[in-house]
Amino acid sequence: MRFPCVQCGKETDSLARGMYRKIVSRTEEKFLCLHCLAERFKIPEESLRQQAEFLRKTCSLFY
Ligand SMILES: [Zn+2]
Repeated sequence: MRFPCVQCGKETDSLARGMYRKIVSRTEEKFLCLHCLAERFKIPEESLRQQAEFLRKTCSLFY
């Protein structure tokens, strides 16, 4: 299945979707890419990516 970002239309990857589930909603079927997610929460994209890559090691929401 494909999950384009609902804001910019860019394809989301499992990292972006995992982070979205983690910090927005676990049951959501629509996702934001890391870039738009970072903008929404007013944090640098790179810092969000680093957090996501760290969390992915232990969190089952990243699929
Ligand atoms: Zn986006």
